[in-house]
Amino acid sequence: MSRRKKFVLLGATGSIGESTLRVLRKHPDKLELLGVSANQQEEKLRTIVHEFQVPHAHLGTSPKNPEAFSSATTLSSGSSNLNALASHDDADVVVVAIVGSAGLGPTLAALNAGKDVVLANKESLVVGGKLVTEAARKSGARIIPADSEHNAIHQCLLGQEDRALDSIILTASGGAFRDLPIDKLKDVSLEQALQHPNWSMGPKVTIDSATMANKGLELIEAHWLFGLPPGKMEVVIHPPSIVHAMVRFIDGCCLAQLSPPSMTFALQNALLFPERHHGVEKSLDFSANLNLSFTPPCEQRYPCLRLAKQSLAQGGCFPLGFNAANEVAVDAFRMNRIGFVQISNIIDATLNKLNAIEPLTIDELHLLDSQIRETAETVVNSLN
Ligand code: NAD
Ligand code: MG
Repeated sequence: MSRRKKFVLLGATGSIGESTLRVLRKHPDKLELLGVSANQQEEKLRTIVHEFQVPHAHLGTSPKNPEAFSSATTLSSGSSNLNALASHDDADVVVVAIVGSAGLGPTLAALNAGKDVVLANKESLVVGGKLVTEAARKSGARIIPADSEHNAIHQCLLGQEDRALDSIILTASGGAFRDLPIDKLKDVSLEQALQHPNWSMGPKVTIDSATMANKGLELIEAHWLFGLPPGKMEVVIHPPSIVHAMVRFIDGCCLAQLSPPSMTFALQNALLFPERHHGVEKSLDFSANLNLSFTPPCEQRYPCLRLAKQSLAQGGCFPLGFNAANEVAVDAFRMNRIGFVQISNIIDATLNKLNAIEPLTIDELHLLDSQIRETAETVVNSLN
């Protein structure tokens, strides 16, 4: 039997973290958990450490009850220690399941150390796509996409020549308000925005799905992963979330990847890549009445998608600006400071104030990111 793959799971207490742990429970003979991290959920982290006997754990905040962790576990906190865990000598793979641009530093640390990265954290590519892809190229480490659409494309492209690829098509569920009359969007509540029709996910990505900022971030993510220009990437609304993405080849043929709407499929595929093994959950049942419809998204309903496309076309710091403004706006919506439709207004107003510059280093990028967040905060305050 081959050696177990040792992996570090950053963001272990979140939704992607939980799905990754389901894959580990299914394949304890193939995978070994070397380290885990969480931002604040100390008890949940301790439960995970206990269940899987994890030797290294990291908490974003300083631990309140460190003595409750087993003495066999090294417990750390602070961002430099998170980067150290992400680049641990013994790790074969690092799963980045952190939410938001906080995923960038650890992703870079892992890639710089030559560690393969299973990437769920799309924001790191949106914010630092150039730095991240260069780090992978220099060290020879692989970025294996775990976002379901990008994992689907990764699967469809296996064994194909680069020159054969024409374009990609990302599917989107349309989120919580796909069927709501547009004039009612201004009255929706946070609770309603958190009800995704198909997927069970963390709060930020669920709200991003309702605005389709998520699909916008995914277009930018796909640009960096697959090297495609904006004109070669389409988005279609596909309500059942069964076809995760499609690839169109130059001969006109399209390939699609299908599986039920649960992240265990993409995560197992990425984590055990290039091997395939029995899945955590049942495959699709084609004897049921599957309706695989595809329709173009309505621009009026999803202004965030247009803004994301615009930021990708502008390039430079604009995708970073889109992401920073979106993170600030989503936080403000979650704190009841703004209404749902104002999320796109805040992104738009923030991007309009942005000068076209390109941050070249991680420090320049962090500085610009915090400046843009300040601008977005000012816009939020001006609406109150
Ligand atoms: P979540 O909110 O459920 O979990 C986030 C995790 O990141 C938690 O473990 C939290 O402790 C940690 N974290 C939060 N802020 C942090 C910080 N500042 N520093 C370090 N760690 C921090 O989020 P999620 O839904 O699991 O999403 C994680 C990422 O995966 C996001 O980028 C999301 O877009 C992407 N993604 C999620 C899904 C899904 O089904 N949930 C699907 C595709 C892609
Ligand atoms: Mg996705």
